[in-house]
Amino acid sequence: MTNNEKMAELLLPSIDKKPEYYEALYPERNLKEGAKVTRVAPSPTGYLHIGTLFTSLVNRIAATSSDGIFFTRIEDTDKKREVEGGIENIIDGLGRFNIAIDEGFISGKEEKGNYGPYQQSKRAEIYQTYVKELIRQGYAYPCFCTAEELEKVRELQEKDNIRTGYHGKWAVHRDITFEEAKANIDKGMPFVIRLKSPGNEENKVVFEDMIKGKIEMPENDEDFVLLKSDGIPTYHFAHAIDDHLMHTTHVMRGDEWISSVPKHIQLFRILGFKVPKFAHVSPIMKLENGAKRKISKRKDPEAAVHFFIEEGYDALSVVEYLMTIAASDFEDFRRANPDKPYTEFKFNLKKMSVSGALFDQNKLIDVSKNVVSKMSGETVSQKIIAWAKEYDGGFYDLLIKDLDFTKAVFSIDRDCAKPRKDISKWKDAKDYVSYFFEPLFNPDYNLPENLNSSDAVAFLKAYKEIYDETDTKEEWFNKIKGLCDALGFAAETKVYKANPELYKGHAGDLSTVLRIAVTGRRNTPDLCSIMQVMGKDKCMERIDKAISAFA
Ligand code: GLU
Repeated sequence: MTNNEKMAELLLPSIDKKPEYYEALYPERNLKEGAKVTRVAPSPTGYLHIGTLFTSLVNRIAATSSDGIFFTRIEDTDKKREVEGGIENIIDGLGRFNIAIDEGFISGKEEKGNYGPYQQSKRAEIYQTYVKELIRQGYAYPCFCTAEELEKVRELQEKDNIRTGYHGKWAVHRDITFEEAKANIDKGMPFVIRLKSPGNEENKVVFEDMIKGKIEMPENDEDFVLLKSDGIPTYHFAHAIDDHLMHTTHVMRGDEWISSVPKHIQLFRILGFKVPKFAHVSPIMKLENGAKRKISKRKDPEAAVHFFIEEGYDALSVVEYLMTIAASDFEDFRRANPDKPYTEFKFNLKKMSVSGALFDQNKLIDVSKNVVSKMSGETVSQKIIAWAKEYDGGFYDLLIKDLDFTKAVFSIDRDCAKPRKDISKWKDAKDYVSYFFEPLFNPDYNLPENLNSSDAVAFLKAYKEIYDETDTKEEWFNKIKGLCDALGFAAETKVYKANPELYKGHAGDLSTVLRIAVTGRRNTPDLCSIMQVMGKDKCMERIDKAISAFA
């Protein structure tokens, strides 16, 4: 046995497999040429973050556009930061946004696929097998430095303006012998396993980031930790092993990892793995006092995706909005293909923002109005009921009293060639339709300036006599027109505009009076439809109420 082999046995005695075992267990994927294998690798440390949803979407769409695979992997090596239910929060959260997952964790509880386990805490033996091989080859060694010793080194380095870290002469255990290591272990000293970096700071590594372009950085010369003292890998090492064995072709992740790429490329090379393509996704930014900053978990409610769900944005609205951030040519696609699903969009990473796109709530609202306008009345009412059930019990009770009525309410001006783009989120729906529900009815009986209350009362009284709920829209409006003459109003707007001094107003003004009477507001969807949905009795009751208010 060589000294390196003896060291490997000393440090990881229970590992009896060789890397070849795993190489055979996880063979190449059988995919067509050019298919991208992508993944999202969240740590289960809280709620689904908007950035994670965004990165997942980008990974998903890159896989879909190339007939590839998108998988999830749970990076739970930092048990201190893990929260109860963290996996569910994130994976089920992705499900809520209909981000289809081909492999890995497909729900909070289930994983599927031939390249698992897809949870790093269950892969300790795999990582240790590869580390053991690196020790045998002389590429890794044990380090017995305590946290205090490392801290002292750091202070010294900072004082002398030297790059901090375990490199060069500061890498004190780099040449540790088998005998020294054995003596320390016999004393019960804990140790980590570090890479024996062959890199030199003077050399450059160059790589092509698929979003950011060509990047050049100094080679890594730091003997960074591969395995922590509990045998659990660091992110860097786990990333190299997992993305190799799971055959990820494109590592698309947050750009906070860019500075670590030299470490990663070095690891892939030493391990004899093919280096994947990298695409570093810029974070979503927010404008604060004129300056751009990353959306922050601490400061911004919209950092947690849950915020959008509570507000009642439809999942598709959020996704469509994120697509406009993800790809500068998505809006052109949307205009050219108003009815195609976003998943048919051909995604080009080069079209992604290099510096980080701004989150724009108004844009989200616009996108969402468009998305909701394409839904049927049936769908909208179901979605609003589901939302209210969770977030507004009082509204929910009103909505489920008469499901046909609720559906009819949300079908007005929908399911037609030019649907109204009015609702952006379910939370606003309550105010939007409040006049249909007696307990929410809160009328504003103020008439426009050109109308006086006695004309309004005279009109409403006359109108009551002729209303017929079976009238078509045209007949309905003709009846209003028919009352104009007697009240001193012009039946046609054109006629009124030609000689405004001759009239008190026109038929449109009288329909405003009727709108105010029936709904308590000046702006609503089609009034004839509203009255039909409300039913004649309710309309007459409302008109009577308005007459007393005007009188
Ligand atoms: N667990 C890492 C993170 O949450 C994943 C980075 C990656 O995608 O490789 O930042």
